Amino acid sequence: MNTYNMDFLFAALFLLILVLYHYMSQKKLDSEGNRIFRFFIGVGIADVIFDILCTLLMMQQGGAWAELTKFCLTVFYILQVTVPLALVMYAQRLRNAEKRQALQENIVSLVLPAIMITLIFINYWGGMFFWFDSEGVYHRGPWYMLMYYYAFLYAVAVGLITLIYRRELTAEKKRILWEFLLIELLFTAVQAFTGTCLTTGFGIAVGIMVLYLTIDNPNTYTDYMTGVFGNAQFRKWFQEKREKKEHIHVISIDVVSLKWINKVYGNSVGDRLLLQIAEELGAIADNVSIFRIAGKRFFLVLKTLSDYERCREKVKNLFEQVFVAEGEQIPCRAVICGIVNGEKLTEETLIAYVDYMAARVEDAKETVLIQSNEKIMDGFIYEQEIEKFLTTAIEQDLFEVYYQPVYSVKTGQYVTLEALSRLHHPTLGYIPPNVFITLAEKNGQITRIGQLQFRRICSFVKKNEWIMKRIHNIKVNLSPLELLKYGHWQSLVEIIREYGLSFSYFEFEITETAATEYSENLSQMVDTFHKLGIGLCLDDFGSGYANMSTVLKLPFSSIKIDQSLLRDVEKDAQAAVFYQNIVKMFQKMGYQIVAEGAETLQETELLEQWGVDMIQGYYFSRPVCAEQIMEMLGMPF
Ligand code: C2E
Ligand code: CA
Ligand code: CA
Repeated sequence: MNTYNMDFLFAALFLLILVLYHYMSQKKLDSEGNRIFRFFIGVGIADVIFDILCTLLMMQQGGAWAELTKFCLTVFYILQVTVPLALVMYAQRLRNAEKRQALQENIVSLVLPAIMITLIFINYWGGMFFWFDSEGVYHRGPWYMLMYYYAFLYAVAVGLITLIYRRELTAEKKRILWEFLLIELLFTAVQAFTGTCLTTGFGIAVGIMVLYLTIDNPNTYTDYMTGVFGNAQFRKWFQEKREKKEHIHVISIDVVSLKWINKVYGNSVGDRLLLQIAEELGAIADNVSIFRIAGKRFFLVLKTLSDYERCREKVKNLFEQVFVAEGEQIPCRAVICGIVNGEKLTEETLIAYVDYMAARVEDAKETVLIQSNEKIMDGFIYEQEIEKFLTTAIEQDLFEVYYQPVYSVKTGQYVTLEALSRLHHPTLGYIPPNVFITLAEKNGQITRIGQLQFRRICSFVKKNEWIMKRIHNIKVNLSPLELLKYGHWQSLVEIIREYGLSFSYFEFEITETAATEYSENLSQMVDTFHKLGIGLCLDDFGSGYANMSTVLKLPFSSIKIDQSLLRDVEKDAQAAVFYQNIVKMFQKMGYQIVAEGAETLQETELLEQWGVDMIQGYYFSRPVCAEQIMEMLGMPF
């Protein structure tokens, strides 16, 4: 009778119980991955316990406990079959973090363990793996080595998973799986070599400990500042729930005043407040999962509609109260968006949808709650459709340029044209430029569109250079983002050169906000344009709050007064006085004044009285296509 050294087994049991304790006491999501890891720890613990039990029983002299030993050994063998299976399931789940395993794959990986377990049961009568003689002494059976081959096969399977699916696994996960295999190999070898020192169970414990410290450490999934789950965890978890077709009702909370709070109260109070919000949100309901999706955005996810409705009201109440952090009273405005059955969207679309919903009310003065409905969803789908279409439109250059003539009060003729983009969708029809320009700015496609449009304009001028004898220039819009993108304005200069056109044919329109906010980035562009003779026009004057001194430092040749100021004129007499004075003041400073948005004869007459230089508006003409504008300017004969 051998005597075995079980020190390593006791150490293994201690380690595994410690891991289980910490793992269970930490915050976790109810995900497949967590269930598999828990299963792995459970199987590991049971394996070590039965290893200890069997060894103790077998060291019993005389085989008095033979029947019990036989039973325990059978359980231990079954566990020895389950541990490698648990490891393969674990490895599969790592690669399947994004997509769930196909049913067939699950069945295939279960066939072999099922055969092994059947054989272990048959062993009771057949004694293939082990048997006890009449004196109750344990003997190895002829198929004893099969257990080792089996474990080896599964180790190879895990190795293969890391090789075959290397693209689906991160470098860290691959490395850790290999580390796990190496640890198992090492401790199995020690046991095989010594014959009496039982170390394989310790190998399992150390392996699981490594997984717990790395891949399955719940701390790595939580947001360091608030302790709730992070964005990456949300995406994984959400996908899993969606695929299982579970209901997910989402309440999104944007703490919109966070920037303001950081500024007024300091960043540390802002951080403290976020932590407090996370805690209060956690206290709102038991069965809620909380995520911090972005700096100021939290998601609360609920499974039942009644929980969702209750929570939504509580969240709204929470943000209608004043928070107290570090002794300061802080009013905290939030935009709350409610989405029922979020599982119908992908996680990307869900987040985009929340962005869309929140953007509709972000200017609200106090906490607002908006509930997703069909109308909002339709608007979102429309925008998504356009976003998709923009890529095609850019690839196929589907944007058209329309031109709106600008009338000169002095000469009674059209003296310049504003180029405006037009886009038609095959089923949705006309898409207003405000819509697609904003989307293109968001997606970073604006400069591509700007360049395509500018080429069209240049090619139009090149073909019809005679029009430049009738008009001074063509006004082209440059959005703030176009100004920011490095190299964009240079490419516009290049395009003019490429077409061999005079720089003076063009005048770029930039808005007040662009001129103010980006004044540093602008200086080089402004200098170059000025030297080359490209004109600059200040667009939409009066629509924002510009810093006049910065604006006036830029060499604008003309200033366009926004249509909103003209609309106000009808409503109140003060606005009329204001308008007139702006015109006078700017003219004194040497600017040409363009009045935008004249729709009626009255408006036009008023503007003429007030002495504006040029008028642009539907009263004269809407923006029209290239052929029409040529007709309007009078084709040469
Ligand atoms: P914007 O630069 O202020 O252009 C003037 C807008 O006012 C045009 O709208 C024009 O059709 C409209 N408009 C002209 N006269 C009247 C009028 O009498 N009454 C009314 N109600 N509206 C009038 P549109 O073409 O829809 O363009 C909207 C905005 O989209 C433009 O505002 C401009 O900011 C932007 N945009 C258009 N094309 C381009 C482009 O190629 N590049 C860039 N970056 N922005 C563009
Ligand atoms: Ca404009
Ligand atoms: Ca304008």
